[in-house]
Amino acid sequence: MTVKELGDLTGQSAMTVIKVLIKNGMMATINQEIDFDTASLVCDELGITVLDVAPTEDEADEPDGYIDLGDDPALLESRPPVVTIMGHVDHGKTSLLDAIRNARVAAGEAGGITQHVGAYQVEKEREGQMRKITFLDTPGHEAFTAMRARGAQVTDIVIIVVAADDGVMPQTIESIDHARAANVPIIIAVNKIDRPSADANRVMQQLTEYNVVVEAFGGDVPSVNVSAKTGEGLDDLLDTILLVSDISVEPKANPNRPAIATVVEAKKDVQKGVLCTVLVRTGTLHKGDYVLAGSVAGPIRNMFNYRGQSVKAAPPSFPVEILGLSEVPEAGDTVRVFADERKARELAGALSRERRALALAPIKRVALDDFFSHVQAGEVKELNMVVKADVQGTIGAIQKSMQELGDDAVKVRLIRAATGDVTESDVTLAAASQAIVIGFNVNFDPAARRATETTGVDVRFYTIIYRLIEDVQAALKGMLEPVYADVVHAHADVRAVFPAGRHKAAGCLVQDGSFVRGATIRVMRGGKNVGEGRVTSLRRVRDDVREVGAGTECGMTVDGYDDFIIGDVLESFSRELVS
Ligand code: GDP
Repeated sequence: MTVKELGDLTGQSAMTVIKVLIKNGMMATINQEIDFDTASLVCDELGITVLDVAPTEDEADEPDGYIDLGDDPALLESRPPVVTIMGHVDHGKTSLLDAIRNARVAAGEAGGITQHVGAYQVEKEREGQMRKITFLDTPGHEAFTAMRARGAQVTDIVIIVVAADDGVMPQTIESIDHARAANVPIIIAVNKIDRPSADANRVMQQLTEYNVVVEAFGGDVPSVNVSAKTGEGLDDLLDTILLVSDISVEPKANPNRPAIATVVEAKKDVQKGVLCTVLVRTGTLHKGDYVLAGSVAGPIRNMFNYRGQSVKAAPPSFPVEILGLSEVPEAGDTVRVFADERKARELAGALSRERRALALAPIKRVALDDFFSHVQAGEVKELNMVVKADVQGTIGAIQKSMQELGDDAVKVRLIRAATGDVTESDVTLAAASQAIVIGFNVNFDPAARRATETTGVDVRFYTIIYRLIEDVQAALKGMLEPVYADVVHAHADVRAVFPAGRHKAAGCLVQDGSFVRGATIRVMRGGKNVGEGRVTSLRRVRDDVREVGAGTECGMTVDGYDDFIIGDVLESFSRELVS
């Protein structure tokens, strides 16, 4: 596995893994592959148990449980979009979810909807085709944020509900921030349009203040007027979801592989045992599959769709309730299918021990002090920031100066900029988005202070703008991606090619500069680079030498290349840091 993958698996930053490697005399880059022994050594140092559960021979061809979502594009097929509804309290999120479900699930259908299962699907026709849409029935941004903080982003589209008679409220803005921080497209649903005091225009006007410009106002955010009470506009809303899905999301997955799913919610039922709603991300989940959900293993004894009907298979974007796990996993946990039960159980044991250990360890997050190390580890390219200030004017000034600080390699991104004290919601947003919080001439709300203790978010307070700029500048400094340039040291013409052991050596005449043993060279043929390698031996007549200068004839073998032909030019060079 690569250094990064080991970091991801162990819940450590790649930087931590690199540091352990360096301590043990190994230089590694983030994408470098390390073998089992090296990985075990790192884990030992981190206090993590490693089990050698390499696949047995007949399993070697079996797809591994640990495959990321990336797949050969040719194997990908369209899947239904996954939608989350967010917005201010009482603006009608629950009512809207219920209304959509009730209107779309044919009455009297077998099973009906008997219980709340965390997610459901509806069907809608578009351009002559019946299409499915998956709704996560966990309204509000808490569930969305909790999942995202665990690295699981399952939502393709966010619907922001705004009550037409109440207008934009604090949680409306928070929801917009969350959707934006997650880079998920937004659809505005102006709800309660049936009410006499409804004023959709006013809502749209208010939204422009937060840079959400709806299509009717010449912007690019679709908006639909709806009533969860009368059902007005619901069809339109579903149409808009499919349109946004087709135009800006195009969700795809490979249904023909072992499933990877995400836990949406889970609970223990006295009679049925652990009930766990999962959403299939890619592949197809089958009844009877042996799964590892977070650190809980078990067979899928039974599987139900949102209507409570037993199903045998669940393709991508399908929510299903699975029965058979021994313990309750957490929302946001990844579910993987294992061909070998024993392997899954062993991993479950190791992972739960590790989780307990991790739960005791302080959580590491992006902080201004160590931001540079995250950049070096290739983990971040943006410094995400939540800014709270006393007055709007200050926010404008901070926005402007932060924009000027970034460059092409690293940017400062304000995921929220608002007036008021630093609140718990600011800290949660920062935690989910690997962001830091800046308070300017404002106070720390007590709940927010507690939240920083549990989440480990870096919160800083300033009263002078240039201090803030200085600090951010210092954090960004040196983290501009290093620029390397090739410096050429010498040239030699290949005059002869002769055998040297199992390989071939080049007989050369050095034209300029000098060649040293161990130097990196490239082989140029007709102006093109045909190969690169290190000089492993350098000979003058019969003697091994360390260096040969201009005008000298020599024999050279190169590690990694021996396909020389007469007329090639060997170029000795090194890659050096320019700035
Ligand atoms: P949530 O907190 O966002 O989930 O909001 P709810 O769905 O619980 O709705 C809050 C209140 O608004 C409830 O009393 C609903 O009956 C009412 N409500 C929701 N949607 C509508 C609507 O479209 N029209 C009217 N008149 N009332 C609605």
